[in-house]
Amino acid sequence: MAKKWPRQRIFNEAAALQFIRDSTTIPVPAVIAVGEGPDGFFVTTELIDGIPLADIGEKCEVATLPGHEKTKCSACQATAIANAKTFVEETVLPQLRRLTSCTTGFNGFVNPPPWVTEVDRRESAVPEFVFCHGDLGPHNIMTDPFTLKVTGLVDFENAGYFPSEFLEQWAVEVKGYYNMYKTMYESPAELSRLTMALES
Ligand SMILES: [Zn+2]
Repeated sequence: MAKKWPRQRIFNEAAALQFIRDSTTIPVPAVIAVGEGPDGFFVTTELIDGIPLADIGEKCEVATLPGHEKTKCSACQATAIANAKTFVEETVLPQLRRLTSCTTGFNGFVNPPPWVTEVDRRESAVPEFVFCHGDLGPHNIMTDPFTLKVTGLVDFENAGYFPSEFLEQWAVEVKGYYNMYKTMYESPAELSRLTMALES
């Protein structure tokens, strides 16, 4: 299924990355170019060192250490997940909580995460929204496979100001992340609770 709003999501990504770089110490890639080319809209960013947290341990880079396995290394995974959790809780969330706005979205464009797209009825006067990444999971947390520490966050196309409850929708484990979405999609009560937050 094609994603909604191709142009806006690309420009939102570029604007959000620049905003995060200007407003926080959260490591995100610099925007090199944004525009429209022969293949559609594009944003080019610098590369962030490392690999997605979701791929950590597939090939262990420190296999000589005790407790590590050459492939499918659970020791690497456990350490990287613990590091990412600390990073999100201590470095990312406190800084995002300080970025507030009276309107949802970002720069006039609101690109909600997929779980609210279908039921979105925003014209809200809620006094305070906080800046959310919108898709903060192990596929978007870049991690150094040697040190197992977070190197940066990527993929800000869903970023913007949303109710603070949205900031809590994150998980550093693949399973936890997809369970979170499954819970939302399969639980009318949970989905309703979150989309109501947009309307209150
Ligand atoms: Zn390992």
